[in-house]
This record gives sequence, structure tokens and C-alpha cells, in this order.
Amino acid sequence: MLRLHDTMTRRSQPVEPLEEGHVRLYTCGPTVYARAHIGNFRAYLFEDVLRRVLEQRFPRVTHVMNLTDVEDKIIRNAVAHGSSLDEETQPWIQAFYEDLDALGIRRAHHYPRATEYVDRMVELIERLGERGATYRGDGGIYFSIAAFPTYGRLSGLRAEGLVAGASGRVDADEYGKENVRDFALWKNVGPDEIGWETRLGRGRPGWHIECSAMSMALLGESFDIHCGGVDNIFPHHENEIAQSEAATGVPFVRLWCHNEHLRVEGEKMAKSLGNFHTLRDLVDQGARPSAVRYLLGATVHYRKQLNYTAGALHMSNEAVERFATFRDRLEALPPRKGAGGPAVLLAERAVREFDAALDDDLNLPEGMGVVFAALRDANAMLDAGGVDAAGRAALLALVERVDDILGVLPLVDRERDAALTPEVRRLLEERAEARAERDWTRSDGIRDRLAALGIGVEDTPRGQRWRRL
Ligand code: AMP
Ligand code: ZN
Repeated sequence: MLRLHDTMTRRSQPVEPLEEGHVRLYTCGPTVYARAHIGNFRAYLFEDVLRRVLEQRFPRVTHVMNLTDVEDKIIRNAVAHGSSLDEETQPWIQAFYEDLDALGIRRAHHYPRATEYVDRMVELIERLGERGATYRGDGGIYFSIAAFPTYGRLSGLRAEGLVAGASGRVDADEYGKENVRDFALWKNVGPDEIGWETRLGRGRPGWHIECSAMSMALLGESFDIHCGGVDNIFPHHENEIAQSEAATGVPFVRLWCHNEHLRVEGEKMAKSLGNFHTLRDLVDQGARPSAVRYLLGATVHYRKQLNYTAGALHMSNEAVERFATFRDRLEALPPRKGAGGPAVLLAERAVREFDAALDDDLNLPEGMGVVFAALRDANAMLDAGGVDAAGRAALLALVERVDDILGVLPLVDRERDAALTPEVRRLLEERAEARAERDWTRSDGIRDRLAALGIGVEDTPRGQRWRRL
């Protein structure tokens, strides 16, 4: 059974969906004013691994990720460029989707944008008002944490003596509050500023209310899992809990899961610190997205800090290559009849242990340890000629099971194709055509021409696959 470490109870909890067979997952998404950096992608990759494991274990998963498309920096840029919010954010939303695809991250089922849910936020704020949990101050409408006695449970912070501004994000909401930790639900804006005319007056929503309104609109008032990086615990998620539960009176979320940070030279990778790399930077420097995916998702457990170094990226590249080469070797193996024997036992045990590692709070690094130990033994069996068709099938099933979570092989195939010269690419296409037409003479002729160019081709159940000779 899948268990996850829950930040609220501070222990591992079983994943038991509120609705039988259907897991509802909300993950905090990007503020779309620049390209996300690979620290952000550590969060999105942890969530992708979670999503993939959930999809292996449960019949249905609904995954929602918000896009924060109204916020101080976005507004500042829009004003500076003389553009609308939509014009300002569209290129960054596009860039975000491109990077998700480049890293093989499964798309969420919904990407609600804050600007499209302002009505829902207004309703939620009104509901909180009816329950006496809000007040008006100079800057707008605030949530009164005095109305929510269990405030601070998630982060373990006491209601009194807390320092506001722990995340930097609350600074802009500081004016006119009764309690230092009360936070803005709605910010008044002047007639010339970007904002919405609503029943609350002219203004725009605070950051925290977005996630409460959008998650509850798409997943219901209570749902299963909510994720983000550890910097989201306070104040963002603490505030989400307070305003959601104060409005509905029911528990907001079953399990809270948070990933630790990607760091560079001892500091959190962050836009504000200027110590960040984007995926595009790394690819321009010659990195492969498959290696970046491996580094961020599979080398260190998601609840431990990960240090970004060129050496770690290099080792990830090698791990990916070893895994892909093993797959290639199995696919190229001539079928030989037999009853399976030790290779089948080896593969089945590795699958069991890999699954168990993931069930234990998504321990993909431990799972990969199991996989590479099995690969070493399987390679020795292959060297000795001891793998028949049944063994090959079992080992391929292992590779498939692992990559359903690891997600690097489709990236490797894409990267290899991109590395081909136009001539080789054309010959491969022609050969695929010839095979589709069952023209074996032509197909073999092209194979020889490819071999002369240093490219070998093998035919696999999923089509031809090339490699350098
Ligand atoms: P933000 O755009 O700052 O709200 O960040 C988007 C997501 O990335 C949130 O879940 C953050 O917690 C997460 N995040 C930001 N920086 C890092 C980092 N250096 N390492 C891991 N996750 C991060
Ligand atoms: Zn959020």
C-alpha cells in the first residue's frame, strides 16, 4: 500500500482516497512572469513521480495545477510594457508547457488561471465575511487568524510571536492589519490600476485565496493530496487551510506533501537570489533533458535537499545511458525458446522491490538502487548467453514498469533522434516505409547504407530502433 509522509501529522500515512478509486490531487503551480528554474522543476518532478505512482495504484487520478497569472511582479511588468495581463503572461505559460513536455512531465488535467476564477474568490471571501473571519483595513480585506484557533498546525508555528515575511511574499500585504499574521484576501486598487470591479469593490485577489478557490472549485471542498515545495508550508498552505476550513467547516485536505529544495552552493535555488538555471540554459550547455529529469527526480529522496552540481548531472547522464543501453540490449536479443529460469526470478523480484520502495514515501532513489543491482546481474546473464525469450520478456517488463515512473526512455529516444544527421533521418524514414510495405529487399539495402554511415538498426515490436555502431 502506498504511504506518504504527511506534513500535518508529521508521519507516514496511507493514501486512501475519500472517493473510492479516485485520487484528487492539487499542486501549487508557477507564477507566470518568467521561465521556471530547475528548482521549481524539482517540485514539479516530485509531483510527476507522485502522479505516476498514483496512476499505477489507483483507477483514476484528477490532478489540478494553478497558474498564478496576477501578482505584483506580473502587474509591474504589464504596466512597464504597456500590455494586458494576458499578453504579459501568455509567453511564460507557453514556456512552462514547453519545459514540462521537454522533461516528460505528465500534464495536469486542469490548469486553472487565477484571473479566470476571480468570481469564485469573491464568493469565498463573502462566505468568510458571513462567518466573521474577515475585516476591512486600509489596503483591503483581511483574514483574521483570531477566527481560526487551529492556525499554525501545519507549520508547527505558534499563533503568537511569529515573524511575518518568512517567505517574502507577505511583505506586499503588510499594510493595515490588526494582527501581524493576518493576511490580505482582497487588495484595493485605484481606478487606473489593474483590477476587477466586484461586490467587494475594485481590487484584486491576494495570492493565498487563489489556491483555495481554484482547488475547491475543481476538486471539491475536501480532497486527498496537496503538494508544493517546503517554502509553501508557511504562510501559503497554512493560510489556505485557514481560509478554506473557516469557510466550509470541513477538513480541506487529507495529506500535505512537500518537497525539499534544490540548492546551489549551499543556498536555495531562487529567482530572487539570481543563482538559478533554467532547463533551457542547461540544454544550451549540452545537457540532455533526460539527465536533468533523472537528477531532479531520482537521485535524492524528495524530502532531502539536493545540491545541484555539474558532476551530479554528469552521473545522472550516465545512469540514464546505462538504463537505456540495457533496454536496447534486451530488444536486440534474438528470441530463444526456454522456460525463463533465473532471469525471470531476478526481474520479478526487482519489480516487487522497486514497487515497495515507491510505496514507502516515493523512494525512487532506493528503487533505482534495486534496478541497477538487477541490471548488473542481468547483464552478466546476458554475457553468459543465459537469457531466453521468457527471461527477456520479464526483464523488458521490469524496464517498462520502472520507466512508467522514471520517465526517461521517451526522452532518450527523442534526444537520439534529434542527434541524427538529415541524411540518416531520411534513410530511417525510408526504411520504416519499406518495412510497412513489406519490401524486405529494400529495407535490407537501406540497413547496409545506414551501417556504412555508422548507424545500426534493430527491429523491435515497437518499430525500428537505431544505435551508433
Ligand atoms: P513559486 O513560483 O516560487 O511559487 O514556486 C513554484 C514551486 O516551486 C513551489 O512549489 C515552490 O515551493 C517550488 N520551489 C521553488 N524553489 C524551489 C527550489 N529551489 N527547490 C525546490 N522547489 C522549489
Ligand atoms: Zn498554492
